[in-house]
Amino acid sequence: MAWYLSFIDPGNAGGSVRIPESPPVVLQPIVYECPRCSARFDSVQARREHFFAAHPYRKPELLLRGQPLGNGVTTIHAPLQAADWLLGSCEWIVLNGQAMTADALFQTLAECRQGFHVLELGNQDATERFELRFCIPELAELQRLEDVFATLFIDNALNVDDIRRFAEACTSLKTASEYLEGVCQYLYGVLAKDQRGDTQLDHAQYKERFNRALEALRHVDRPMARTMRGIINFSLNSFAQAASQPDAPALAVAATRFAGWAGRSAKGCVVAPQKAQARLPIDHATDRILSWMALPEKRQAQALDDLQQAIASPLWTAEDRAKVAVLWLEWGSACRSPDEPRRMARRLLNDAIFAGYAERMLERMNP
Ligand SMILES: [Zn+2]
Repeated sequence: MAWYLSFIDPGNAGGSVRIPESPPVVLQPIVYECPRCSARFDSVQARREHFFAAHPYRKPELLLRGQPLGNGVTTIHAPLQAADWLLGSCEWIVLNGQAMTADALFQTLAECRQGFHVLELGNQDATERFELRFCIPELAELQRLEDVFATLFIDNALNVDDIRRFAEACTSLKTASEYLEGVCQYLYGVLAKDQRGDTQLDHAQYKERFNRALEALRHVDRPMARTMRGIINFSLNSFAQAASQPDAPALAVAATRFAGWAGRSAKGCVVAPQKAQARLPIDHATDRILSWMALPEKRQAQALDDLQQAIASPLWTAEDRAKVAVLWLEWGSACRSPDEPRRMARRLLNDAIFAGYAERMLERMNP
């Protein structure tokens, strides 16, 4: 069974999820905007002085990228710069019991990678307490995890023992623990969904594993993590995030089309064809769907029977069967007797995502 997404050879496994080295860097013009009145300044210092003087407030405030922080714990997952922070109505600062200046505070916060910090801000009326938890992974650890992943899972049959071995090999990568959790849950989900690789999980448990992976990967800003989230979202018929993934071109194209059929505009992305740098294990159904969608138009009609088999298969999830039914309607409506498309469209009338699509199809068939 083939399950690697291959960008270079759609005839092999069909899909095409490419993992590039890193996203392109976008240079922003250096303008510092006041988050409250949108006044613009050409230096961080000028904005700080303006914010302090122009927006007095009874309580001291701490803003992160323009958003005032609440008094609960704020978790920070990505590196920050001194310019990302702003103070308002604050006359004194104590970080972890130590008094300091605003400049020293911003510098310290910009250097924090891990750990828990208690910040107290005060003025003559009030004292506010903020709790900051820093969980910023070390790039080297994320890359090490990806190296181990490549060694174990690229061009190798996926099974439960390898996932365990992978987890063991990566437990020492402390700052990559969310990434590790997310990748493992993704892989367990793939095995559960396909019922292969010695999985002890039931078929139905794939969804819970996929949801755990989505949660753990939420803040992991790496192409492989985004691609896994894209595959899971696509699998669950949630197309917006998958449609905007330049890291996984075929997936993005497929998700954009399904979003369109579902009547939701998805912000697709421009995808330049490139050679695959890595392939991810994916579930059988997603692999099949992506390979069908890569078929040239003249071969689509020949695939209709395969689509019909998938739609009738209890091994396919309701979400995947719905996607295949849409494909069948797109390709089969013109060349099959009218009863068949009508029946197929009626199957979709109760679908959470494609009901509107089915209604439009039925209207078109019964003028
Ligand atoms: Zn302002």
